[in-house]
Amino acid sequence: ASFGFREVPREEKAGLVRGVFDRSARRYDVMNDLMSLGIHRVWKDMVITEANPRPGQTLVDVAGGTGDLARAFVDRAERVRKRRGGEPARAIVTDINEQMLVAGLKRGTDDRLQWVTGDAECLPLPDAIADCVTIAFGIRNVTNRDAALKDMRRVLKTGGRFLCLEFSRPTTKALERIYDAWSFNAIPRIGEAVAKDRDSYQYLVESIRRFPPQDAFADELKAAGFDRVSVTNYSGGIAALHSGWRL
Ligand code: SAM
Repeated sequence: ASFGFREVPREEKAGLVRGVFDRSARRYDVMNDLMSLGIHRVWKDMVITEANPRPGQTLVDVAGGTGDLARAFVDRAERVRKRRGGEPARAIVTDINEQMLVAGLKRGTDDRLQWVTGDAECLPLPDAIADCVTIAFGIRNVTNRDAALKDMRRVLKTGGRFLCLEFSRPTTKALERIYDAWSFNAIPRIGEAVAKDRDSYQYLVESIRRFPPQDAFADELKAAGFDRVSVTNYSGGIAALHSGWRL
């Protein structure tokens, strides 16, 4: 259940998974949990509801990590397929970090999931293969955002939908104050205490501040060629879902 993915010899894979690979994947999961107080699971569920998976569809999940969205997409489509029939949906999980994909494979995979190493700026995928392209908590890490947005649009079919979930800006002053205290004080301290790694957690908080606010990022989607761009705030703007279509 993989393509474009280097086959890692079994022993090597086991060693790698036990070692640094496992740690980094777990760290991402812990970071997501910490930053969102576990609410990222609910947000991801809302993204999949918005994606509205259907039998026979193809999802490309960019910066997909261990494959949370991909699994949810194919499972949701399968529920529809049981009632209405059709082909199974499939999802291609792409990530620049092979270690994340190995950790995802270790969690379990099947024929509906494919795992592909690749940079969001230059996806190793053909044009127009996806009914839906998602990226969750990944765009913030991309160096050339415009190149990535254009390439994610390239792999979408005409009529396909792009959905991007990312930490964003709280929409009320009160929430902003709580959020600032949480992210500037609590998170680096928790990072120090839990992972003995204050710097990474500090970086994480700063990277969220550097990322453009909702409106500015929506403009970037439009500039990359997406149509009918819209934004939905999640949990008062702590995260936001940006949506665009390839029409
Ligand atoms: N989407 C997953 C989720 O929500 O659980 C993983 C999110 S994790 C916080 C960010 C992921 O982005 C990592 O797996 C990392 O390897 C990947 N990443 C960072 N830069 C990337 C790039 N330029 N292209 C593709 N993936 C990238």
